[in-house]
Amino acid sequence: MSQVIPEEVLRNETLIAHLADIAADAALLHGVLMRLQESPNSSELVTYAPFTLFPTSVPKAVFQQALAVQTHFNTLVDKISQDTDFLEEALASTVEVDDFTARLFAIHKQIVKEGRSQSVVLGLNRSDYMLDQRDDGDLSLKQIEINTIAASFGGLSSHTPDVHRHILKVAGLLDESQRILDNNPAAGLARGLAKAWELYGSERAAVMFLAEGKQRNVFDQRRVENELWKKNIPVIRKRFGDVHETGSLDQDKRLFVDGQEVAVVYFRDGYMPQCYFSEQCWDARLLMERSLAVKCPDISTHLTGLKKIQQVLARPGVLEKFFPDQPQVVEQIRATFTGLYTLDMGPDGDKTVAMALAAPDKFVLKPQREGGGNNFYGSELSKVLEAVKQSTERTAYILMDKINPAPVQNYLLRRDSPLKISSCLSELGVFGVYVRQGNTMVMNECVGHLLRTKSSEHADGGVAAGVAVLDNPLLV
Ligand code: ADP
Ligand code: MG
Repeated sequence: MSQVIPEEVLRNETLIAHLADIAADAALLHGVLMRLQESPNSSELVTYAPFTLFPTSVPKAVFQQALAVQTHFNTLVDKISQDTDFLEEALASTVEVDDFTARLFAIHKQIVKEGRSQSVVLGLNRSDYMLDQRDDGDLSLKQIEINTIAASFGGLSSHTPDVHRHILKVAGLLDESQRILDNNPAAGLARGLAKAWELYGSERAAVMFLAEGKQRNVFDQRRVENELWKKNIPVIRKRFGDVHETGSLDQDKRLFVDGQEVAVVYFRDGYMPQCYFSEQCWDARLLMERSLAVKCPDISTHLTGLKKIQQVLARPGVLEKFFPDQPQVVEQIRATFTGLYTLDMGPDGDKTVAMALAAPDKFVLKPQREGGGNNFYGSELSKVLEAVKQSTERTAYILMDKINPAPVQNYLLRRDSPLKISSCLSELGVFGVYVRQGNTMVMNECVGHLLRTKSSEHADGGVAAGVAVLDNPLLV
């Protein structure tokens, strides 16, 4: 990624201040909004979602590569989620030491034992990448992770293109303005939800958004909700607590929450330990998993998104197992993998420990967590690894090559933040949607993209964590 915004624009302080004012208004006008940290459950006061003043250039070839591989990732996630033996073997060492994974896995085991009550599966995922700057100067697309639960910003990123178009026009960059791509993941995600709802087959039943306790990012979700309402599909928003208090299954395992039948449960919560603040939340998760409702994701698809699975997939021969007759698909997927290494007990794991401690700046140490801010880099990586390297505790983590994108100068606009130029790194996300009914894939699509950008001072952390901001790719 490189800067396409002329230096004389980037460095013109008066112009930048003017553009930043206009940008905030444009974001508000286009509904690129967030609630305030101090009042996350009220829309009385809102602000713009943090975003970059300028879009960031992305080479066309790698952008298209990311879009083109998405349907294969959809298929891969779906295949893994059905392969009980593979999941069990891949997660065996993690389940031993990581309580959160162990609890999710226990639900998965119970569902496998009881038999799945619903043959319709809906996947809404987002595969994230950075562009690694190789020694020869070329950029290569490398996957950071794939999110199979609660992947966010499909809603807001459907409206950020208009904001950047406007800013670029005001900056006198009309050509660039016209090159900002359209993007509408909200519509695509809703198409998947609508298909699952239709296959469930009851007009009275609703799509239930399982919402977090703190709903700062509600507007992102409302975009998707409203797409469903446009199709006359009823939507309700409930929390874990609501499901526990008012949820039940009838004799056909149909899920009712607060008297309303639920056709599809769309999890926007439940991805990290803190989401399950009481035993009752776990009971509610189990209730939903056992039900006839289509779960997005179901428990096995949730597990498929774990970083441990990502690491196992990078082992020689594993992708081939899932695509036995499609070497070109294997090749396309594998091209996006960077080095991923096991920390299981044994000689391979020992080798990983020695390699990481010898050059901690070249790697990232990752536990089985989501939501940003959980990974370790550099001296912290060494400290954590030194502390766990002799015990099975180390198997809670995986090690990954650190991807090194080229920094780009930009301004990060965020409420109450000083306007200053920053050296920034970007992460490209691609949204995938699939629906399977029994053995038939009835939908498998790539439905849009998301560019997030953060200051290079921060090694980790997403938009929700207050580090990254929304951006748009400008193809070059
Ligand atoms: P989470 O599930 O918390 O989002 P990620 O794997 O996406 O975990 O990591 C969080 C952030 O850390 C990413 O958004 C990215 O900025 C940074 N990061 C993760 N893996 C790498 C890597 N291999 N190289 C460079 N940065 C990384
Ligand atoms: Mg991430």
